[in-house]
Amino acid sequence: MRCPYCSSLDTQVKDSRPTEDASSIRRRRVCSDCGGRFTTFERVQLRELTVVKKSGRRVPFDRDKLMRSLEIALRKRPVDPERVERMVNGIVRQLESQGEAEIPSQKIGEMVMDGLKRLDDVAFVRFASVYRDFRDSGDFEALVAELKERDPPDEEPPAPRGKPRLAVAPDV
Ligand SMILES: [Zn+2]
Repeated sequence: MRCPYCSSLDTQVKDSRPTEDASSIRRRRVCSDCGGRFTTFERVQLRELTVVKKSGRRVPFDRDKLMRSLEIALRKRPVDPERVERMVNGIVRQLESQGEAEIPSQKIGEMVMDGLKRLDDVAFVRFASVYRDFRDSGDFEALVAELKERDPPDEEPPAPRGKPRLAVAPDV
């Protein structure tokens, strides 16, 4: 596994254990060259999925690409990578089990946005603004309205800005 920091191929597994829901193996790795630490996940792939882009072009579903766009949206946000992993697992399982081999990219985008809404408001807005290709401020207002209607009224108010949200992940 190549080091994401210095691209060295000399990395070692330090720890290996199943994730909470036992759907993946989580490995902590350390780079022998730069000392960088990172985590990888090993999981089952049930079937091949094809994504149909807006242009009509068909490409194989690329989980790593999805993870990269999530990493960008979640950059410097206090979200446990295992929760992100679980969210993506859930999305992929849903796609795999619905029986359609071809999935519109729009559908995946909406599912990711639904998941991010529950994980982190900032990441949700970042992802949505890229994904929906905002053109005017009305788009942004609509998005914020979406965030507001998400919380049932009896729920606790969101944590103050800058403070990490709930540290314990709810069971999914
Ligand atoms: Zn390295």
